[in-house]
Amino acid sequence: MARSKYISMDGKLVPYEDARIHVLSPAFKYGANVFEGLRAYWNADQGELYVFRMREHMVRLAQGMKIMRYKFDSSIEQWETWLLDMIRGNDHRTDCHLRFTAFVTGEGFMDAAEPIVFVASAEERPAKPLEQKVVKAQVAAWRRIDDNSMPPRVKTGANYSNARLGLLQARADGYNEAIFLTQAGKVAEGGGACLIMVRDGVPTTPMVTGGILESVTRASLLSLFQSKLGTKVVERDIDRTELYAADELFFCGSAYEITPVTSVDRLPVGTGEIGPVTKSLWKVFEDVVRGRDNSHPEWRVPVFGGRKS
Ligand code: PMP
Repeated sequence: MARSKYISMDGKLVPYEDARIHVLSPAFKYGANVFEGLRAYWNADQGELYVFRMREHMVRLAQGMKIMRYKFDSSIEQWETWLLDMIRGNDHRTDCHLRFTAFVTGEGFMDAAEPIVFVASAEERPAKPLEQKVVKAQVAAWRRIDDNSMPPRVKTGANYSNARLGLLQARADGYNEAIFLTQAGKVAEGGGACLIMVRDGVPTTPMVTGGILESVTRASLLSLFQSKLGTKVVERDIDRTELYAADELFFCGSAYEITPVTSVDRLPVGTGEIGPVTKSLWKVFEDVVRGRDNSHPEWRVPVFGGRKS
């Protein structure tokens, strides 16, 4: 993967190698950071790159920082400018995965809530056909973190130690991904993505109070299910055994986009192939994020405004 030339720190472009914070920073010692992962999609016909739902990601970042009591005085509008300037500065004209992270820097202790450094970076990630995204999942023996201890609603790096426990166990056991259950034993989500199952034709997903990150992709897909496929998604508790009884199952998230799960605990999901609903939704999603479908213009932020390099 080619490295970007520049990373943005507090809005200033610095060469990739020089983007550093100290090893004794609270971000490093305690995992004190809150971050966003976003995507930008290239539309070759229009010569335009679209950041998908940038505002929603930044609002979630601000919310996470509030919950974690970080102190900062920059605004969502400034963060958006910094992110877009970073993409333009690197002249990324292809699909990208973007990160925007608020790190607690300095040399403080556990109670340090400032100073914060905001870092924006990009990684070019060419589009992958759905068939190449298929995964086999394991229900993790590790339970999902809980709102009363490590709130999954906050996208802090520290939460990903829970994800790593499940993911690395799944990999050691010969699977690609982990599916976490809540402390109460209901299906929550993957380590880095939400889950939607189709059972008897009904798309169903855990509620936002069900130990999940409030995913921007999940919210977008719920809306597209309704507007494009004419189906309402039911939000409710899901039992573990419903995963085995499901016709279709997929992860969704900015990094995972739509990732079909074709088996759980070595039991095939439905036919064990990518299902028809997943395929239709993928087509709809791809067209909307790239602006080939004009609906939801408010979801797409054009980076170059039609400017050629
Ligand atoms: N759940 C978790 C634990 C995640 O890390 C992510 C990725 N941000 C998601 C769900 C999906 O969220 P989004 O669609 O906003 O990327």
